[in-house]
Amino acid sequence: MSKSAITCRVCSSQNQHECLLAKDVNQAKSDTSFFYYCCNDCRSVFLDPVPDNLGFYYGQDYPAYAVKNSKSVEKKLNFLEREKLKIVKRHVSSGRLVEVGPAAGRFLSVASRAGYDVLGIEQDVGCFEHIKNVLCLGVKQSDKPADELALLTDSCDVIVAWHVIEHLQDLRGFVSSAAKALRQPYGVIIISAPNPEALSLKLFGYCWVHLDAPRHLTLIPLFALDRLMAAHGLERVGCVFDDAVGLLLNKTGWQGSLANFSRQKKICPRLLTRLLGRMLAILMAFFDRIHRNGAAYTATYKHRTSLIVGKKEK
Ligand SMILES: [Zn+2]
Repeated sequence: MSKSAITCRVCSSQNQHECLLAKDVNQAKSDTSFFYYCCNDCRSVFLDPVPDNLGFYYGQDYPAYAVKNSKSVEKKLNFLEREKLKIVKRHVSSGRLVEVGPAAGRFLSVASRAGYDVLGIEQDVGCFEHIKNVLCLGVKQSDKPADELALLTDSCDVIVAWHVIEHLQDLRGFVSSAAKALRQPYGVIIISAPNPEALSLKLFGYCWVHLDAPRHLTLIPLFALDRLMAAHGLERVGCVFDDAVGLLLNKTGWQGSLANFSRQKKICPRLLTRLLGRMLAILMAFFDRIHRNGAAYTATYKHRTSLIVGKKEK
């Protein structure tokens, strides 16, 4: 493939430079190398080309698809889901909530118990069946969320995509359909994603645990996401880097990345790496909280018309 054919998945620019040569260091499913480019226009980091066998890199053992974990892990996961719900409740307290990529359906379950009318759009068949048959919640099975959202025009009070957009090939299609699916004027889209401006990425490069090659196709800086959403009439009304999930990802951004680095370079026994990783995470926690250094963000968007209506109502 010639370099001129490489196009940024976020802004369509063909002006980019190669920034990372990565491998699947998180799950080591193959020894294949993957090229990541940095867009010179919007600074998004994107994988190109997308491997034809992308499905192989998910598989049954993909951690997010686990429907059952140990009691202590389930307790932690459910805590995080309740924290996500707090972010939703700040903006919309009831109504139709659609989650793109609910995986094992924990958040859907928490949101349903809180009174939201929930629907999931999930690509994994095992998770889809679990949500439908075990959790007994509304769910559609599809790997094309843009197409599913296109069927929901002006009907969603909340659309959430927790750490999903980095996996999408049709990113712009997703944003376009999501913007139309929002109930006007007050519906909200809440998106969380890994932050390509993170300090831990700058230090660990291809070993950064949240790069997660080749599953993460695009890492979008917040300002580029703002620009993409603005093109569909959406404006950011909130953003956090230090919510419970963000803080956890800051920690794993250091611990997991150091473990990846140590494994790649074969420099340190596992126990010592784990100890050093914990110390590093504690030391860097202060810097993670400085302007957009954190490993992930959660941003909320509304239609611009809602802000105009809101002002008039005041
Ligand atoms: Zn771009």
